[in-house]
Amino acid sequence: MSLSFGREYLAIPGPSVTPDRVLNAMHRTAPNIYEGALVDMVDAMIPDLRAVARTKADVAIYITNGHGAWEAAAMNVLAPGDTALVLSTGRFAGLWGMICERLGVKIEVIDFGTAQALDPEVVRARLARDTGGKIKAVLAVHVDTATGVLNDIAGMRAAMDASGHDALLMVDCIASLGCDRFEMDAWGVDVMVAASQKGLMTPPGLGFVYANDKAQARQNAGVSFYWDWRNRVKPEMFYQYFGGTAPTHHLLGLREALNMILEEGGIEAVWRRHDALARAAWAAFECWGQGGPMAMNIPDAAQRSRAVTALSLGDRNGARLRRWVETNGGVTLGIGLGMSAPGDPKGEGFFRLGHMGHINAHMMMGALGVIEAGLVALDIPHGPGALGAAARVIAQA
Ligand SMILES: *Cc1c(COP(=O)(O)O)cnc(C)c1O
Repeated sequence: MSLSFGREYLAIPGPSVTPDRVLNAMHRTAPNIYEGALVDMVDAMIPDLRAVARTKADVAIYITNGHGAWEAAAMNVLAPGDTALVLSTGRFAGLWGMICERLGVKIEVIDFGTAQALDPEVVRARLARDTGGKIKAVLAVHVDTATGVLNDIAGMRAAMDASGHDALLMVDCIASLGCDRFEMDAWGVDVMVAASQKGLMTPPGLGFVYANDKAQARQNAGVSFYWDWRNRVKPEMFYQYFGGTAPTHHLLGLREALNMILEEGGIEAVWRRHDALARAAWAAFECWGQGGPMAMNIPDAAQRSRAVTALSLGDRNGARLRRWVETNGGVTLGIGLGMSAPGDPKGEGFFRLGHMGHINAHMMMGALGVIEAGLVALDIPHGPGALGAAARVIAQA
């Protein structure tokens, strides 16, 4: 017998659960891309895309995933021979740096490890030493999806200002947009990169690069035609928004996802829901950890993302638990990405719970309930009271 039949739940940190409303909006034949409803819809969507990032900056939409958006952002402002400072708090900033390196950009990495947020003071001190202004951009992730860390982007801007350095602040919000509070303008972010398949609840395939005036003024003259954001942010023809044929169905899906965000009460309401559900999960993880090996990767709750939580469970228990809850409970957890421990080079002692986008209290309680069943079934020691603790957080919210 298996208890996994019924609606499955993909609780990995992206792609996230696609709402039925988004799928249904996409379920039609392609519309005209030269005039009419689609053209009007995209024009009207730009203000909503600005609102979710709390910015007046322009946004370029690309037919790509996060990696493509990384490359687009890099190419528009960084030229071969430029130097970028990469702030590593897990896996993703380093990958962005690798993409820059392939473009001929020199990379300097500051590694803050895998269990804590970046330290703005360290960055301030490094920039203060760059008196010749060699560093053109500082690259950081808002949320690192491998470690579950949430970086203090406002603090980073303050540190950059304090150093008197005028490098661009470029931030990857691929995991965090639509989950964790992010204020592009108030926090002084120059370039922000996002993608459709996480907090924005739309299938993978759209990448977004937001760029303020300062960033646009630093256009790299050598940018390739396809990644150039100039036409895309101020197009004379609809065709130019996308460098060719529009991604018709993704746009229809994204429109519906943005409608859902607006109906919920706007981005602040979405942040509050993610906050309550993340805290419910953390309360459960704390309880289980008190009687066994489970531990959240980021010990300081103030540095934890509301989009994803990474955990260690020791031995090969992360992989065992994932397999059990998927086979027996219909819940798919995330692998331990880029994490390893002595005796566990593949990171099988780790797992991640994605809690981004289209999730509600019953999905969170269901996922936690099945995890508890897995801990029992696999004889993995764990403390009591986890589900009650999670329920109390939800009740109080
Ligand atoms: C998912 C993710 C990426 C990569 O996005 P892809 O669409 O897989 O290319 C980059 N950065 C962060 C923080 C992510 O969460």
